[in-house]
Amino acid sequence: MNNKSAIDILVLDDEPFMLKLLGRMLAGLGYTRVSCHESGPAALAAYDALDDAPNVILLDINMPGMDGVEFVRHLAQRHYPGGLILVSGEDDRMLQATEKLARAYHLFVLGSLHKPPTPAGLSVLLDKRIPSAAEKPPATNKTYDAEAVRAAIVRGELVNYYQPKVVVATGDVIGMETLVRWQHPEDGLVFPDRFIPVAEAHGLVGDLTRAVLKGALVQAKAWQEAGQALSVAVNVSMDDLAALEFADFVAAETAAVGMPPQSVVLEVTESRLMQSLATSLDVLARLRLKRFRLSIDDFGTGHSSLAQLRDLPFDELKIDRSFTRGAWQDERLRAIFEASLSLANQLGMEVVAEGVEDADDWAFLRQTGCHLGQGYFIARPMPAAALPGWLEDWRRRMNRAPQN
Ligand code: C2E
Ligand code: MG
Ligand code: MG
Repeated sequence: MNNKSAIDILVLDDEPFMLKLLGRMLAGLGYTRVSCHESGPAALAAYDALDDAPNVILLDINMPGMDGVEFVRHLAQRHYPGGLILVSGEDDRMLQATEKLARAYHLFVLGSLHKPPTPAGLSVLLDKRIPSAAEKPPATNKTYDAEAVRAAIVRGELVNYYQPKVVVATGDVIGMETLVRWQHPEDGLVFPDRFIPVAEAHGLVGDLTRAVLKGALVQAKAWQEAGQALSVAVNVSMDDLAALEFADFVAAETAAVGMPPQSVVLEVTESRLMQSLATSLDVLARLRLKRFRLSIDDFGTGHSSLAQLRDLPFDELKIDRSFTRGAWQDERLRAIFEASLSLANQLGMEVVAEGVEDADDWAFLRQTGCHLGQGYFIARPMPAAALPGWLEDWRRRMNRAPQN
């Protein structure tokens, strides 16, 4: 294996004894650039102070204070490019769950070690290390053809991420929006703008929406059963609304899972002119009659506009992020934002501000009386497994925040 003395390793374990043991083992294997930390915050501070991220992190998942799962989330937020080794005295299931979560976050997991670790076990995992993040192929500009997208749907490579919708005044989480990603075996996590248009152009959206919706319903039911009554929103393409049976499909799936339709939100963006206005109106009206909630997404852009509000029975209006972000410092954005808000209020609709990106956006929102907010400041879209950790974090942040 190549130059071990050039490998930076960060070790995090709350037991001083274990830290010493791991440090000695690493030295024995020829790794000399090792920094050891007894708590998550201390390790993060050390991480943030580095010019380059460590090549490998050894992480104990069971720690008081910030635990390993939470630490994994912080690593994901920093787009940690190196290898991750989980070390734990916990049972296999906990280790596997944490590994899965780290992979879902697109971290590079080398594997896990049970306590007490052995030099041989450690050595095998370290040898799997990829030398640097720069060698990972960028997933950026690649395009995918219809066949690839079709295969991804069939193989179940699409995964649902979820982004919270929270009550601005209290921070309470009332629902989650489902945002689909493609966990590509080689390219990593691929975002919807890379494959939804392909799916739309080749008649694959029906299958895609069905897969996403089924997953979202099962997830929402699981949350409900865990005592968390959250609504779940799914994005619907105009193509879905061109098929008359769509309303029946949604109703049947929802009933099969046992979710109340009132907890299921369908977000509609009119990205292009409706192919068949009558069919779309038929489908949406029937969904509404069945008590599903309809949301007009990206309001103020494209065709998501006044004509839709006139013609369709929407329950929710989502102010597009281009009007929210930075509205606190831009009079024109603020005017559009406030007009949209007032319109929705007069029509008796729920309002969600999209694109709350930072503390200034959040503070602005709190002054406007807008009921719900969504955006990176609150949470990035995350795998379902990350929700408990985020919730804990969010509650802590809300308690700390100045109330204005
Ligand atoms: P959308 O429904 O308007 O979703 C919001 C998008 O904005 C998401 O991008 C989300 O990650 C991103 N976002 C959230 N908060 C912020 C923020 O504070 N700042 C910024 N700059 N962006 C934020 P994503 O996940 O890439 O999805 C893009 C679009 O793809 C979605 O827009 C939606 O129209 C479509 N889409 C996603 N999942 C599905 C799906 O399952 N089916 C269909 N038909 N369309 C989907
Ligand atoms: Mg949406
Ligand atoms: Mg939107």
